[in-house]
Amino acid sequence: MILMARCFKCQDAAVVHVAYTKQDVCRSCFCSQFESRVRKANYDFSLLLRSDVIAVGISGGKDSACLLYNLHLLSKEIGFQLTPILIDEGIAGYRNKAAAKAEELCEQLSLPLHTFSYKDSFGLSMDELMLKRNEKRKEDASFGRPSCGYCGVFRKNSLNKAARELGCSKLAIGHNADDVAQTFLMNLLRGEKSGNERFGVAVDAGIAGFVPRIKPLIYNLELECAQYALLKELPFHLGECPYSNEAYRGVVKDFLNDAEEKYPGTKFNLLSSFLSLHKKLSGKAVEEEKAHVATVACPTCGESYSGSNATCKACSFVKEFSQSAARN
Ligand code: SF4
Ligand code: ZN
Repeated sequence: MILMARCFKCQDAAVVHVAYTKQDVCRSCFCSQFESRVRKANYDFSLLLRSDVIAVGISGGKDSACLLYNLHLLSKEIGFQLTPILIDEGIAGYRNKAAAKAEELCEQLSLPLHTFSYKDSFGLSMDELMLKRNEKRKEDASFGRPSCGYCGVFRKNSLNKAARELGCSKLAIGHNADDVAQTFLMNLLRGEKSGNERFGVAVDAGIAGFVPRIKPLIYNLELECAQYALLKELPFHLGECPYSNEAYRGVVKDFLNDAEEKYPGTKFNLLSSFLSLHKKLSGKAVEEEKAHVATVACPTCGESYSGSNATCKACSFVKEFSQSAARN
């Protein structure tokens, strides 16, 4: 006789086995655990205030679906407002399918979705940019950067601009425990010591021109986001970006997934190392950094940036491609 696993909490039929706690959990207890970890992130890092207008970066994927759904639940308790924003990179067969799911979710929650595209903001979609780069690589194999190097900069610029123009006080992004553990490890592996000082759960508060970014999903794993989205039947797109195989993050992600499978709890151990290190660093280092971050408005797009370059990073990428096109 096969015995059905029972929820460790309420004895109902279990639907999820959580490897790092060795517990079987039913649908209802799993979802309330997930939601209470979002509450814990809010409590630990003081993320959400009644007076806030929270821009929510959504992509149509599982993580941002969980983020928007949970913030919608919390908005009813706390009283803040929500403004979902979707950035369309212009990746055919990928973002258009995901965007349809994002629209579906916003409709279910009766929230108007605001969409902005790379094509409108920078004159180039990701597909066009990759075609140009690959064309250029026929003459010079080392030309340009991996896809995500461009895309990440364009997205950050677009989200910040959209959130600011829509009058939002904070920008929530769907980074989960996996994303934070990956970024922490990537910064260590690349020797980017200062990367971990400026990176955290609530960042860029008080820096001119930047809408502070918050990460309410930090205590939930990527797998748990997928399980929650499925159990709650949230609309989301499961496809993978066709350019994701170029990302260094992919190598770190595979390594961490492998380590987690063999040694459950690895990702949370890394997250907790990051948080305790960040606590020690952040108070002093972040305040010192803030005092020294002098931002200027980019003469081309108007977005704030720091450093001594003539334009922001996004505009310098656009220029790089328009110059290479002019030379051809
Ligand atoms: Fe952009 Fe890279 Fe994400 Fe694709 S995987 S959407 S290129 S950041
Ligand atoms: Zn610019």
